[in-house]
Amino acid sequence: MKETTTTLLVIGGGPGGYVAAIRAARLGVPTLLVEAQALGGTCLNIGCIPSKALIHAADAFEQARGWAAGPAGNAGGHAAGRAGDHAGGHSALGIRVAAPTIDLAQTLRWKDGIVARLTGGVGALLRKAGVRVLHGWATLVDGKTAEVRDEAGEVQRIRCEHLLLATGSRAVELPGLPFGGAVISSTEALSPAALPQRLVVVGAGYIGLELGIAYRKLGAEVTVVEAAERVLPAWDAELTRPVRAALDHLGVVLHLQCSVQGLTTDGLGLRVRTATADEFALPADRVLVAAGRRPATEGWGLEGLQLEMAGRAVKIDDRCRTSMRNVWAIGDLTGEPMLAHRAMAQGEMVAELIAGQRRQWMPAAIPAICFTDPEVVAAGLSPDQAEAAGIDALHASFPFAANGRAMTIGSDAGFVRVVARRDNHLIVGWQAVGRAVSELAAAFSQSIEMGARLEDIAGTIHAHPTLGEAVQEAALRALGRALHV
Ligand code: FAD
Ligand code: NAD
Repeated sequence: MKETTTTLLVIGGGPGGYVAAIRAARLGVPTLLVEAQALGGTCLNIGCIPSKALIHAADAFEQARGWAAGPAGNAGGHAAGRAGDHAGGHSALGIRVAAPTIDLAQTLRWKDGIVARLTGGVGALLRKAGVRVLHGWATLVDGKTAEVRDEAGEVQRIRCEHLLLATGSRAVELPGLPFGGAVISSTEALSPAALPQRLVVVGAGYIGLELGIAYRKLGAEVTVVEAAERVLPAWDAELTRPVRAALDHLGVVLHLQCSVQGLTTDGLGLRVRTATADEFALPADRVLVAAGRRPATEGWGLEGLQLEMAGRAVKIDDRCRTSMRNVWAIGDLTGEPMLAHRAMAQGEMVAELIAGQRRQWMPAAIPAICFTDPEVVAAGLSPDQAEAAGIDALHASFPFAANGRAMTIGSDAGFVRVVARRDNHLIVGWQAVGRAVSELAAAFSQSIEMGARLEDIAGTIHAHPTLGEAVQEAALRALGRALHV
C-alpha cells in the first residue's frame, strides 16, 4: 500500500475543510486534503449556493408573472406579486409582459454553471496554495493515520501530525419516510427532473421555507407540515410574522403542530396527524423532508477514536480541539449552528493555531440569515435572549414602511430592530426582516464585533436612500430620537 506523510491531513473539502487547508498551506504547513465527492462540500454543491440560485430564479419568474397578470388575477392563479408592484392585477410599475414561461432545464443549467465556477475556483485556490488534494473516501485508522480509497479502488495510507475532521452533516431521515422515490431531501429538490404539481414539505425551518417558497413561485402547489406551533420556530416570533404573512399571501398551505406518519399505501400522499390525533392524507407528488441535519459521524471510522461527543456532534473546545491531542474538528460535524461562515471561520482559526499562532474562538456574533421572502437576519441577542442572559436591555424597531429605499424596491414590509444594554448602550443584537435585508448582516456583525454603542450607529452618516438608513433610525429610536417615525 502506498504511504504518504503530511503535517496536516484535512478530511472533507467543504467550506470548513477547504478554508483550513488553503490557510494552513499559505502559512507553510504541508497540507493534504481528502474529499470523497466534489470540492466545496454541501455548501457549494448541494446547499447555500444552488439554493440561492434557485431562489433567485423563482423570484424573477414570480415577478414576471406578477407583471403579466391581468386585472382578474394572475398567471397560474397564485403568483402573488410584490407589495407595491400591483394595482388591480396590473404591474403598478407600468411594466407589461406577456405571460412568461420557465425552461426549468435551462434554469438548472444556469445554477449548475454557478456551482461549477465556484467549485473550480476552490480547486484552483487549493492548487495555488500548494495543498495536495486526494479524491477518495477516507477511513480513520487512528488519530494520526487514515486510509483513502480513490475512485479506482486503490487504497493509500496517509500519516499526519495533525488531523482535522471536517466531514459536515447529512439530512435527517424521518421514521416512516426514508429518502427515495417521492421522498426527497434538499439535494434532490435542488435538481428536480420536473416541477412537481404538488409538493409537501416536512419542516418549516430554513430549508423547508427557503425551498418551499421557491417551488411555490415556480408554480407548484406547496403545503408545509411543521411539528411546532409556528413557522421558523427557532427564530424570534415577531421577526417571523412577516414571513408567515407572505406564505399566506403566496398561497402556501400550512399544517402546524402536526406530525407525519408516512406515505399513504398507494404512495400518492402523506399521512399527517394533528395535535388532537386526527389523521388525514395530503396528496403529494413529492415530499421534501427538511427536518434538520445531523453531523456526519458514521462510515469513516470516527468511533475508533473514541472522542468525547456532545450529543451527536464531536465535542470541541474554544480552539476546535477534540478530546484527542492534535485531532481537531470544525463545521457541521461539531453541531449547531450549522452554517458555512461558522465552518470557514473555524477552519481559518485551526490552520493558524497549527501554524503556531495564538487564536481562540470567541466571536461576538455569528449572523444567521433565512433566505425566505421576506428575508430574515439575526446577529447577536434578541430581546428575549438578552433577558434570559440576565442583561438589562432596551430595544427599538424601525419599520421599512418609513424607509424610502424599501418603497422603491417594491417592498415596505418588515423592520430593523436593535438590542442594547440599558446602562452603557453597548449593542448586543440586531434583527431584521424584509426584502434584501440579508445584506445588512455585515453591518450588524461588524457593529457588534467592534463593540459599537447606539450613539456610534446613530451618529454615523448612512447613505440615502438605502435600507441601511433603517439601521441608523433603529439606533436613533432606541435613544428616543428617531427622525422619520
Ligand atoms: P460540508 O460542507 O458538509 O463538507 C463536508 C465534506 O466532507 C463533503 O464534501 C463530504 O463529501 C466530505 N466527506 C465526508 N466524509 C468524508 C470522508 N470520510 N472522506 C472524504 N470526504 C468526506 N449555510 C449558510 O451559512 N448559508 C446558507 O445559505 C446555507 N444554505 C444551505 C442550504 C441547504 C439546502 C443546505 C443543505 C445547507 C445550507 N447551509 C447554509 C449549511 C452549509 O451548507 C453547511 O453549514 C456547510 O456546508 C458546512 O460546512 P462543512 O465544511 O462543515 O461541511
Ligand atoms: P431546521 O432545523 O432549520 O428546521 C427543521 C424544522 O423541521 C423545524 O422547524 C422542526 O420543528 C421541524 N421538524 C422536525 N421534525 C419534524 C417532523 N417529524 N415533522 C414536522 N416537522 C418537523 O432544519 P433544515 O431546514 O432541515 O436545515 C438544516 C440546517 O441547514 C439548518 O439548521 C441550518 O444549519 C442549515 N441551513 C442554513 C441555511 C441558511 O443559512 N440560510 C439554509 C438552509 C439550511
